[in-house]
Amino acid sequence: MHKTPLSEDIPIPKLIRSKRRSIALEISPDGTFIVRAPHFVGERAIREFISRKRRWIDKIYDHTRERLILFRPKQFIDGERFLYLGNEYTLHVTRDMDGKLLFEGRFILNERYLPKARILFERWYREEAFMFFTLRCKFYAELMGVRYNSINLSGAKHRWGSCHPGGKLRFNWRLVMAPKDIIDYVIVHELAHLIEPNHSSRFWAVVDKVFRDHREARKWLKDNQVRLSF
Ligand SMILES: [Zn+2]
Repeated sequence: MHKTPLSEDIPIPKLIRSKRRSIALEISPDGTFIVRAPHFVGERAIREFISRKRRWIDKIYDHTRERLILFRPKQFIDGERFLYLGNEYTLHVTRDMDGKLLFEGRFILNERYLPKARILFERWYREEAFMFFTLRCKFYAELMGVRYNSINLSGAKHRWGSCHPGGKLRFNWRLVMAPKDIIDYVIVHELAHLIEPNHSSRFWAVVDKVFRDHREARKWLKDNQVRLSF
């Protein structure tokens, strides 16, 4: 049996050790490969594990490369562009203002608050998200004849929405960066869970009645997940 010689030059991506029992490989939304390993496993075994997963890594990498190019962590500099409801708006950083962060067809950030820019942006997005989701949920709930109990925001990286017992809806605030019809799809999806809890064909029939282009919307979310990172 031919065995590929194990070289020491296989790079170990970001390594996180913990009390776990086995080695695992994952990719974060910004495209960083992360190895999770137990404390007792040596680096040689980790490299061996990575080399066994080589093909998987290459496949994932090819698949996401295009999307990853789109991801650049925000720097909050003048002229940088930020997504809001599917459109990009320029950021203007100035000393000449009283507030902290404003939106007037473009984002205007007070230069004195630059160190807090990320927090301010998230807060702004969350407020907008809550207002927008509230309006759309009300509209679609009436249309679909369902009742929900509450709307909450989450900041989960991989989850756009969820529906909990008692009609508690939860939506990712990052969604407010996506186009309106994509947000509508996620809302319809979660409201449909009030009728059908599982992803059965009956569930998709409920979604389909209200939102025909759900396949395209799902594909959009998958392809643009990285753009909705921050
Ligand atoms: Zn679902």
